[in-house]
Amino acid sequence: PETVRLLCSSQVITSVLNVVKELVENSLDAGSSSLEVKLENYGLDRIEVRDNGSGIKAADVPVMAVKHYTSKISCHEDLQRLETYGFRGEALASICAISEVVITTRTTDDDFSIQYSVDHNGQIVSQKPSHLGEGTTVCVANLFKNLPVRRQYYSNTKKCKEELKRVQNLLMAYAVVKPELRITLSHNKIGIDGFFPKPGSDFNSTSSSTTDKTFIFVNSRPVHHKEILKLIKQYYTSAQSNKDSANRRYPFLMMNITIPASTVDINLTPDKTEVMLQNKEGVLLAVETLLISLYGYSID
Ligand code: ADP
Ligand code: MG
Repeated sequence: PETVRLLCSSQVITSVLNVVKELVENSLDAGSSSLEVKLENYGLDRIEVRDNGSGIKAADVPVMAVKHYTSKISCHEDLQRLETYGFRGEALASICAISEVVITTRTTDDDFSIQYSVDHNGQIVSQKPSHLGEGTTVCVANLFKNLPVRRQYYSNTKKCKEELKRVQNLLMAYAVVKPELRITLSHNKIGIDGFFPKPGSDFNSTSSSTTDKTFIFVNSRPVHHKEILKLIKQYYTSAQSNKDSANRRYPFLMMNITIPASTVDINLTPDKTEVMLQNKEGVLLAVETLLISLYGYSID
């Protein structure tokens, strides 16, 4: 059965573009007015589609990724008055067979969203409460990881870039046909969140001359990164009224930087805290941009 399922899936889903198209169409079928598409490493590491549609009813969740399950038609006559993109109930099942799928969903009747991990057979293997609003977010990780030849096709950067362009064009096409739809696409975007001292607060009262109060995380792992630390120190020093260099201090600050896993090397030292970033300049720029937007001035 495993072989049969893999063969069938790869016929439905042959590209990153297919996955995005199926997920976006599911979102549109769910009546979404806003869609966010995020890709990491051209979609091979991660494809995420977040919508604000109807969500998936708890009763439908156990079968949502089961082959041939669809909530969109219930009788033969429905086929004649089809108003949805999907009706075969194949896409989710096929995507699950060739990737790792996590679905978070919440309907208007739910008090909170629930995040479900789905296995290759479309079965729910675990679930936990989540903080997302109404709608559905589908995350597809490690696409084609069990189809080495497909994966090999994407080892060519030129092919990846062409595919990204096709994804852009597809989303643009939906935006044109549905002008009321808000739709965004991001690729390898860096996210930063955390705890930062309030603008205008006296950093000295909570700061120290050593780095022990400045915590940096990359993808939720604590790390050391000299240049990020240096940038933070420079920034906060120029923000302090006391410019005496002997008094330069690090603020109490926590920062979690989220970047594609494939662009981070965390195993440089045995304790796994030194980190090497492929896109170091991009990360430094993102950190600086965040600090400037928080506090409204740049380093002098
Ligand atoms: P189909 O679109 O042909 O029904 P899919 O495999 O694409 O089949 O999806 C299976 C079912 O999962 C859908 O019928 C729908 O009930 C549910 N579903 C999938 N994605 C979403 C979404 N973004 N919002 C709400 N329901 C969804
Ligand atoms: Mg569908």
